[in-house]
Amino acid sequence: MKKKGLLVVISAPSGTGKTTVCKKLREVDRSRFKFSVSCTTRSPRPGEKNGVDYYFVSREEFKKKIKSGELVEWEEVFGNYYGTLRSVLEEAIEKGDILLLDIDVKGGMNIKRLFPENTVTIFLLPPSEEELNRRLITRGADDEQSIQRRKKRIGEEMKLGEHFEYKVVNDKLDETVEKILKIIEEVRGNGSGYN
Ligand code: ADP
Ligand code: 5GP
Repeated sequence: MKKKGLLVVISAPSGTGKTTVCKKLREVDRSRFKFSVSCTTRSPRPGEKNGVDYYFVSREEFKKKIKSGELVEWEEVFGNYYGTLRSVLEEAIEKGDILLLDIDVKGGMNIKRLFPENTVTIFLLPPSEEELNRRLITRGADDEQSIQRRKKRIGEEMKLGEHFEYKVVNDKLDETVEKILKIIEEVRGNGSGYN
């Protein structure tokens, strides 16, 4: 039987914990969980590494990648461009990897539309609006204007999140990771082609 990769889309309003959860999942087993490194035109945050967290590119480079078809999907989010590399997804599907995608709601739905058999969509929810505000502030990565931009998008993201197959409230981090591991096991159990 042909091996098939599993694309695990993890979307949520900014500040809910997508990045943290993806990192934790990878700590569980690095050889098992791969991360889809996206391209972005935003500047690196302190500690972020090129090729690890994102491929940080100029607007011109990003536009070239759109033109050449290198990106399987892309969106403008908070005034910057973000896109998923086609080669990364194709390699994961071919090899039978479990690939984690930390992408926005629209991008996540596009991945599901393009690779329906290989994709599971998980929407993370914050425990409350107050806690989400607290996380956005304590992350300390964005200035006030950027935080306001991120907050403005929450309503739209929560609405689109209704279309996701699974919803997980990211309250206690360890419990969130356990729930996602369970979802992955469940999906792989159902899809006989997954290794
Ligand atoms: P996102 O990638 O969704 O924008 P991050 O992963 O950057 O969000 O998390 C935003 C902030 O919330 C970070 O400071 C992170 O440490 C914190 N955080 C993430 N998950 C939890 C959690 N379950 N409990 C408490 N704080 C969390
Ligand atoms: P951040 O600037 O906080 O890293 O990311 C901003 C938003 O862009 C988040 O919702 C994140 O999931 C999303 N994002 C990151 N990479 C991609 C991508 O390749 N495609 C899409 N559509 N969204 C992405």
